[in-house]
Amino acid sequence: MLTEPLFYQVVYLWIAVALVMFPLILRIVVPYGRHTNKSWGPLLPNRLGWMIMEAPALLVFSGFFLFSSSSHPPVTWIFFLLFNFHYVNRTIIFPFRLRTKGKKMPMIIVLMGMMFNVVNGYLNGYFLGSLAEYPAGWVTDIRFFGGIIIYLSGMLINWQADNILIHLRKPGETGYVIPQGGFFKYVSCPNHMGEILEWSGFALMTWSLPGLAFAVWTLVNLLPRALHHHRWYQEHFSDYPSNRKAIFPFIL
Ligand code: NDP
Repeated sequence: MLTEPLFYQVVYLWIAVALVMFPLILRIVVPYGRHTNKSWGPLLPNRLGWMIMEAPALLVFSGFFLFSSSSHPPVTWIFFLLFNFHYVNRTIIFPFRLRTKGKKMPMIIVLMGMMFNVVNGYLNGYFLGSLAEYPAGWVTDIRFFGGIIIYLSGMLINWQADNILIHLRKPGETGYVIPQGGFFKYVSCPNHMGEILEWSGFALMTWSLPGLAFAVWTLVNLLPRALHHHRWYQEHFSDYPSNRKAIFPFIL
């Protein structure tokens, strides 16, 4: 196991990798969903791909948290539950709700997603299970309080947007229409905006470097994806609402 100073050096390195990757991810349209692309090698069915890709987040995070030899400060159980609440949905429920008949994603994307989730699950699970220390009154601290409000707001926005998107298709359909309702009034990708808010809130409430790394990586992954989706909508729908931004209302 890494010593504590080495652990933090790894987290700084992980954040640096995200920042270096950002300009690259901005340029490369990551090939899954509407951007899927056969030239990225062998493909897997979408539903299976999502489950395999996300499962390590649940397993690695929970394993490092639960099987640590340290005693857990009580508040870390809240963080444990919130993290897993998100990932039970993303790994087990979300893939079965998708109307994704016959659609596939490249195996390389699944492998890259798994790698991200292994590292992220380890950093956050090991930190919260073995290193984290919080004072007894942390739940009354403004960082905890503000963070949990941001986290829950982000989760609601993300769920509402995912729900709207999933119901745009009747069972068996695979095409695309212009989404309406909720935060789609303002942005093309409220699901991505909500997810960024969620993990920013998590970083704030845990006040931790691994939490910050997760928030940075989420931004680095999803900001470019939202920009690519937004451009795709504009190219495919001549009547696409011109006042709708990509991801942050009135800004971007
Ligand atoms: P998308 O918005 O691309 O797709 C979500 C689902 O809705 C897919 O089944 C998609 O179909 C369908 N869909 C999307 N737009 C339309 C439309 N206009 N008409 C009909 N159906 C539509 O989401 P992502 O795949 O990018 O992400 C899914 C979830 O995973 C999000 O909540 C996101 O926040 C999260 N995520 C988190 C990441 C992280 O780093 N934390 C990384 C990636 C995703 P189809 O697949 O056929 O396009």
